[in-house]
Amino acid sequence: MFDSLSEKLDKALHVLKGHGQITEINVAETTKEVRRALLDADVNFKIAKEFTNRVKEKALGQNVLKTLQPGQLMVKIVKDELTELMGGDASGINLSGSPSVILMSGLQGSGKTTFSGKLANYLKKKKSKNPLLVACDVYRPAAIDQLHVVGDQIGVPVFSDRENQDPVSLAKAGVAHAKANGHNVVIIDTAGRLAVDEQMMTEIANIRDAVSPQETLFVVDSMTGQDAVNTAKAFNDVLDFDGVILTKLDGDTRGGAAISIKSVVNKPIKFIGTGEKMEAIDVFYPARMADRILGMGDVVSLVERAQEQFDEEEARKLQKKIAKNKFGFDDFLKQIQQIKKMGNMKDLMGMIPGAGKALKGLDIEDDAFKHVEAIIYSMTPEERSNPTTLNASRKKRIAKGSGRSIQEVNQLLKQFNQMSKMMKMMQGGGGKKMMQMMQN
Ligand code: GDP
Repeated sequence: MFDSLSEKLDKALHVLKGHGQITEINVAETTKEVRRALLDADVNFKIAKEFTNRVKEKALGQNVLKTLQPGQLMVKIVKDELTELMGGDASGINLSGSPSVILMSGLQGSGKTTFSGKLANYLKKKKSKNPLLVACDVYRPAAIDQLHVVGDQIGVPVFSDRENQDPVSLAKAGVAHAKANGHNVVIIDTAGRLAVDEQMMTEIANIRDAVSPQETLFVVDSMTGQDAVNTAKAFNDVLDFDGVILTKLDGDTRGGAAISIKSVVNKPIKFIGTGEKMEAIDVFYPARMADRILGMGDVVSLVERAQEQFDEEEARKLQKKIAKNKFGFDDFLKQIQQIKKMGNMKDLMGMIPGAGKALKGLDIEDDAFKHVEAIIYSMTPEERSNPTTLNASRKKRIAKGSGRSIQEVNQLLKQFNQMSKMMKMMQGGGGKKMMQMMQN
């Protein structure tokens, strides 16, 4: 996420981070580089200029030249300003109505339908809600199908009526259906167009007036940079929406939209989309995002994601197996599945402080476990539960079956054995033993 911006900011702040002599000129030079980095990330010129002016003012005001660690103070100032620019505190979603009505707006292809599904899934799982999805795109039958596919995937019902060509009455019928069937949240997916157009705006405004949503959300593709900001402005002028959803932050986006949108429309970014899967949704925390942009990682989010995937029942079963020396490759596979559910590898790595920089240039595949899984899938069930049976000829067969080399198979076995040993030690309260092993 925002690799290039992070790198440029790091470079800009590097002068002051080192022990070189700090002068007013240095500070000016640094802020100029910061501004350039922001402009390269497609941040609006005016915003970038105001941003660096504030940073400079604060730096000189706090007497950055006289502090012992001017570099660190400068990083902190930039971080605070970035946080402020992106919205300060995280803002929640208003679920006060009964049912609460959430209206989605945005251009076609921005990720509205996908996000409607993600939000329904999030509210169902994390907030114990009983959502209903409503399909209001009367122009594209495929859009209705798509919402049904999404609904089936997450086990959330979808209200649609292919006979009805009037989105306003459809939305109303959807809300009535929710009331009658005990749904406490209604998410209305509307039709988008490829570009801002008056008819679309009138239509969505009419829907809004008819159903009085608690939340009108504007969904925008972060990859579109400055266009995202302009579109947001156009929608906000008509709809006065409540919050922004930034999608596709997992892609190669430069970051401009995330940084500029709040100050242009003065509405908070509420959620971000970080992938095509239904789980790829995150609450937007400006401070955590600022940390990530400055290469400080985001350990809090990482731990939260791990906790979300943690299954106590499974953990207990695993513990028993380890105690009985019965940990096998099937369990190993399960562990991999859990890690994969936390997000794609690149994204997870980006949350570890400093990892982004350390891993720069390394091509981490989204599906980093693909080869390991292929090897394990080429084992027989017997081999998976009894890895000690893996002799040379079996290894050769597995390598052939998975299309990997013998070395890779051996490497995996070695890692597996080390992991089993380590887990066994942790079980036996063998902290000391483990320390010894690590020192050796
Ligand atoms: P809509 O026309 O606004 O309803 O947009 P869709 O929900 O159909 O999304 C358009 C495309 O973007 C689809 O291929 C989605 O899978 C993809 N998409 C949506 N959100 C994300 C995201 O956060 N990350 C990525 N990588 N793709 C996304």
